[in-house]
Amino acid sequence: MMFANIIIDISHEKLDRPFGYIIPRRLEDVICVGSFVKVPFGKGNREISGFVIEITDETDYPVEKMKEIMSVSKNKEVVTSRLIELAYFIKTEYGSTMNRALKTVIPVKQKVKHIEKQTIVLNISGDELTDTVAAYNKKRAKAKLRLINELKEVNKIPKDVVVDKLNITNSTLKSMKEEGVIVIESETKYRNPVNVQAQDEYDIVLNDEQNKVASEIKQAMEGIYSGTVLKDDSLNRIHLIHGITGSGKTEVYMELIECAVENGKEVIVLIPEIALTYQTVKRFTRKFKDKVSIINSKLSKGERYDQFERAKKGEVSIMIGPRSALFTPFNNLGLIIIDEEHEGSYKSDSVPKYNAIEVAAHIAETTNSALVLGSATPSLDSYYKAKRGEYRLHTLTKREKGNLADVHVVDLRDELHAGNKSIFSFKLQKLIQERLERKEQTMLFINRRGYAGFVSCRECGVVMKCPHCDVSLKAHNNGKLICHYCGYEVPTPRLCPKCGSKYIAGFGTGTQKVEMSIKKMFPTARVLRMDLDTTSKKGGHEEILSAFANGDADILVGTQMIVKGHDFPNVTLVGVLAADMSLYASDYSAAERTFQLLTQAAGRAGRGSKKGDVVIQTYTPDNYSIVYSKDQDYESFYREEIAYRKLMLYPPVARMTAILMTSKNIDKLDCAVGVASEYIKSFKERNNQKMLAIIGPADAGIARINDVYRKVIYLKHLDNSVLIQIKDNLEKLIETDGRFDDINVSFDFTPQGNY
Ligand code: ADP
Ligand code: ZN
Ligand code: ZN
Repeated sequence: MMFANIIIDISHEKLDRPFGYIIPRRLEDVICVGSFVKVPFGKGNREISGFVIEITDETDYPVEKMKEIMSVSKNKEVVTSRLIELAYFIKTEYGSTMNRALKTVIPVKQKVKHIEKQTIVLNISGDELTDTVAAYNKKRAKAKLRLINELKEVNKIPKDVVVDKLNITNSTLKSMKEEGVIVIESETKYRNPVNVQAQDEYDIVLNDEQNKVASEIKQAMEGIYSGTVLKDDSLNRIHLIHGITGSGKTEVYMELIECAVENGKEVIVLIPEIALTYQTVKRFTRKFKDKVSIINSKLSKGERYDQFERAKKGEVSIMIGPRSALFTPFNNLGLIIIDEEHEGSYKSDSVPKYNAIEVAAHIAETTNSALVLGSATPSLDSYYKAKRGEYRLHTLTKREKGNLADVHVVDLRDELHAGNKSIFSFKLQKLIQERLERKEQTMLFINRRGYAGFVSCRECGVVMKCPHCDVSLKAHNNGKLICHYCGYEVPTPRLCPKCGSKYIAGFGTGTQKVEMSIKKMFPTARVLRMDLDTTSKKGGHEEILSAFANGDADILVGTQMIVKGHDFPNVTLVGVLAADMSLYASDYSAAERTFQLLTQAAGRAGRGSKKGDVVIQTYTPDNYSIVYSKDQDYESFYREEIAYRKLMLYPPVARMTAILMTSKNIDKLDCAVGVASEYIKSFKERNNQKMLAIIGPADAGIARINDVYRKVIYLKHLDNSVLIQIKDNLEKLIETDGRFDDINVSFDFTPQGNY
């Protein structure tokens, strides 16, 4: 006997688990994972729809009590069933509800105003036409005559031409339609956000190194498509390209896409949102023309839905976008590329907190596609897997254009001893001056927006804090103090609210302060600033970048955003003002992120033919993440960092789960985290799980956001399935135990930053 596990189509959290049903003999051949079925449900055997997420020949449930599936919906779509299976994978891996997972994976149909292209077509001919013209003449129906005379010549005219150029009103058209003289044909035009203009042909020839990488991967792709690469052969399925910045990873991707398309396959390319600029998209459209579509967060939900529909219909075969592009409903997917795979944005920050790389690996397996990851600074996780033979590693070591920049590390303590109180070291000042004289461009980068721009009283030491969040407010140039977590703002007080002193002032170095310091030191320099404040409006960052690319400014000041894959040939100097800021973050991946940021930042200089310089200002010049980024020595960095992770049992060596619990009610929250932590301890004892490490419960790094309190428990184990087991058990407890009412619990299986 066969059974199906079915998710019931009701938005009710308590029903958010699979229910087992018997598959009747007559339906055995038609039901598959993803089928829409009708089943009897509840005491009254209400007929309800659901989807099959699993088919099995065993069940724990007494068979005599099980009900049978009633029917299967005929118009089941293969893509849809694939996506339902995917939602189920996400639900089980990342601890979301099935409903949430489905909403993530399958975009809800949105009412959109489709641009309907209407055409007016003449519907009569011969005698009928002659008679109609005569009748119109008699009635002096001038407008109708005008249209019919035009239509006699061409038969078909677009409606907008008829209305705008021939001045025919809609009511005239309606009346002619009712008379049967014309018909109005319409076809739905899906909007294409990619504006493919006539562009010159793409004619780059891969160099030897690129060619070697591309051929190896293409060979694996052929094997995948022909079925010689087995499902679980991840070494042939998943490829990691470690290529220094500017080594031409994108050129290799293009070659691979071409191979997939020639094999009749479709392709998904993930690019971090921030790097999804006109420049990048143009490179793809030059080669693949209107086969390419993009999605990004600037598209409305309707536009996004349109793009997915076009993909489903096969109108486009290459989808470029941020992580949500993974869910493009292609019928014949053959290749997924994830560029800058180390980027934090590939991890979803809302529930379900899926990791796009893991999800992509699953999609690649179920659709028989290849997965290609690329980065100049691979995540420890991916590199570790490549080293262990789970992914195939490929390397690109040369730049086709330009040279690697000279990197200078400046010890800020020495600067202070030498009497330099400015935020620019002497070295950096000198190099900026040179750039200004040579009319070359400079990028200055600070690690965090509004860093330490907090305001405090020098008399009593009080720090201005957000009344809703456990963070300090940041001073902005507009005279306001702003909370970067909830947006709360107040005018900067003139007197200390606690002691009344007038010695209340801001400290530190934000992007605005850097901008002002430059203007003071180099009054003629033209400066652009790029941070969340200047880019929050739609298209903001694109505008700033293109202004900079056009040479409208000499210096671009910014936060992490400016280090992402942009290619400005005239930038010959990059300054990192406070390199160690990200080292002070108190989580295990701080060194990794510092190394990535510095290496990527250094990669921005010297892209063109001119030599580049990079200045890294730091208080800890001996820290290994700074030392190795100076030489772009990823390999040595990796060795040192992975040793530390092994010692401490941190990911990727062990798996880690963060259980974040939040509530407006602090007492209830305290009680609930206590219950959860007791439960986990007893699980550990009962199952003799000595290797399970439990850290916490403790306040989250930010203990309160928007008046919601936050507590966290971290779990570590070498075996992820144990962590998942704990999650499953805890979820059942949470569902039934009243002490978890009003408590929001979320599980994060790939915690990176700090909670
Ligand atoms: P990455 O993605 O590794 O940072 P890109 O693919 O953006 O590198 O390449 C950097 C620059 O070098 C681009 O302008 C690209 O067009 C150019 N380039 C790369 N490979 C070649 C090649 N084989 N021939 C000519 N130009 C190349
Ligand atoms: Zn005070
Ligand atoms: Zn706040």
